[in-house]
Amino acid sequence: AQTIFSGIQPTGVPHLGNYLGALANWVALQKNADPQDRLIYSIVGYHAITLPQDPRRLERERMDIMASLLAIGINPERSILFHQDQVLEHVELAWILNCMTSMGKLKRVTTWKSKLAVARNDGTDKNQDDGHLSLGLFAYPVLQAADILLYKATRVPVGEDQRQHLELCRDLADVFNRTVKSPIFPVPRHIITPAKRVLSLRDPMQKMSKSAPAANSRILITDSFDEIAAKVRSAVTDSTRGITYDPISRPGVSNLVTIISGCTDESIESVVERLADKGHGELKGEVVDAVESKLGPVRREYERIKQDEGWIREVGRRGAEKARALAVETMVDVKTRLGLGAL
Ligand code: ATP
Ligand code: MG
Repeated sequence: AQTIFSGIQPTGVPHLGNYLGALANWVALQKNADPQDRLIYSIVGYHAITLPQDPRRLERERMDIMASLLAIGINPERSILFHQDQVLEHVELAWILNCMTSMGKLKRVTTWKSKLAVARNDGTDKNQDDGHLSLGLFAYPVLQAADILLYKATRVPVGEDQRQHLELCRDLADVFNRTVKSPIFPVPRHIITPAKRVLSLRDPMQKMSKSAPAANSRILITDSFDEIAAKVRSAVTDSTRGITYDPISRPGVSNLVTIISGCTDESIESVVERLADKGHGELKGEVVDAVESKLGPVRREYERIKQDEGWIREVGRRGAEKARALAVETMVDVKTRLGLGAL
């Protein structure tokens, strides 16, 4: 049987990229995975605080993301759904893995390098390489590896942007196993989704992201029809006539095609064939309809679930209990192997 683990940061209501790139797969696995397979989905608060967060806002986001996951159809009876920050073993294993990770390896991670580039460009960090960025941000991929390995996960459904982090996790599983001379951790594999990478509506060279400053660069799964329409209408495209799929030279148009395909399950080829001679306005009209048909039901469910905060909290509490039971078992094993077992 497989153990499937994935996480999302409580840094805002999920957007269409999160949904098509990862969360839709989480839901699909509930139907398609073997009933013996264990599904574990986590809201990773300790990852969120690698960048500064306002405490009141973070608390609200943690509630909202739980409501979002329930709204898209995560069933807490089938899947273990919990807050990472309520299971302390994540931090404990992360520390142990930190001690087995070379700084050189972490410095090569592209997410770190791009945060560093931003720091240099905005002038906050002229002289030092990593001046004000936190040690926690640097070690982010190690915490992520701990999240996955703590449950001895074998499959990880995450978006394309996480590929390198998962590579590091696989490497750490191997390093640990060799260090203790025992196959404690399975080496986990990436599960890729068809729409693996949804791009920003404002800058189609970047991925759609919760933390990008421009709110109209992303469609939230809770956006109203009017909000969806306004964001899609203002999406950056290009001045070439007709519709083709060419991610390199026409990233904006291709992204809109990807979105239609991701929301309707129509293939990219078929979308392009159907719309080949159409204008950008018509393409955008199709995008709005496709997104609304996908997100309309999610939005209504979200509003219903938000009425009952007591239940949302209860789901989190029960999920954390189930996760902790598994985590404690792994940690006893891990610590004993390292000479840190009970005395
Ligand atoms: P942040 O900007 O705060 O990092 P994010 O939008 O990257 O937010 P995460 O919580 O980091 O969201 O990621 C949750 C999941 O969504 C991950 O599996 C990630 O791979 C996936 N994901 C994030 N952005 C995209 C995207 N634009 N296209 C496809 N998948 C995405
Ligand atoms: Mg991210």
